Amino acid sequence: MPELPEVETIKRQLNKEVAGKKITGVEVLAEKTLRTPKARFLKCTVGAKIKNVERRAKLLILNLNNGWSILTHLKMTGQYVYDGEANKHTRVIFSFGPKLKIMFNDLRRFGYLDLIKTDDLKKFLNKQYGPEPLEKSFTVMKFAEALAKRPNMKIKQLLLEQKLIAGIGNIYAQEACFMAGVLPTRQTKSLKPTEIKKLYDSVRKVMTEAIKYGGTSAENYLNLYGKQGDFVKRLKVYGRGKEKCRRCASILKTIKIGGRGTVYCGECQK
Ligand SMILES: [Zn+2]
Repeated sequence: MPELPEVETIKRQLNKEVAGKKITGVEVLAEKTLRTPKARFLKCTVGAKIKNVERRAKLLILNLNNGWSILTHLKMTGQYVYDGEANKHTRVIFSFGPKLKIMFNDLRRFGYLDLIKTDDLKKFLNKQYGPEPLEKSFTVMKFAEALAKRPNMKIKQLLLEQKLIAGIGNIYAQEACFMAGVLPTRQTKSLKPTEIKKLYDSVRKVMTEAIKYGGTSAENYLNLYGKQGDFVKRLKVYGRGKEKCRRCASILKTIKIGGRGTVYCGECQK
């Protein structure tokens, strides 16, 4: 599933390509992709200009100049594709004049588009999502407070709790634990202050680096231009079970945490 860095990458690309442009047509090929009635969706979007594109957690937000915002969750396989050809996975097509089309494709159909009043956006999102890890206001104190809310939870699971910290998923939770030298199975209450600081720094560092490399195409993530993200070459643990640790060369182990495969190094992580 695309996480914060992947969604951030698409956000930046969408801003470059469609901010300031008028939506001249919307074709809905799969009504189930919409979380609002089709007629209402069309009424609120066709003819409006896209003011800008924002990201909150793993959501893309297209703010329109008529007081509405289009929320998009890519979920497992959702993709925005710039100027592509429609294919059997295309669910919605946005036209910007006679030439430019942006497709919303979604192989597994878990992704969705929703409409919300721009004025209600902040309240709506803050109710569901915790702080953004890359915001200045997200201090190490804030991170420690989030940990203290779930003292018995395993640290990897806590990192996935969107209500406590937004935007981290299965890839970057594992990478952050490795970078911090902390076992993903540790209970949050067992972390010493120095480890909390290390983990906090690691979360921010891994996200920042991943954005720099355009995200991770471990599964089927593609950016707006249909290109893979380069961070996959830089992954230290995710998807590398039974391979050698890049730091100490011992064999990486895989366990399940909350039903999801988790890779770690028994030597580098304590
Ligand atoms: Zn190691």
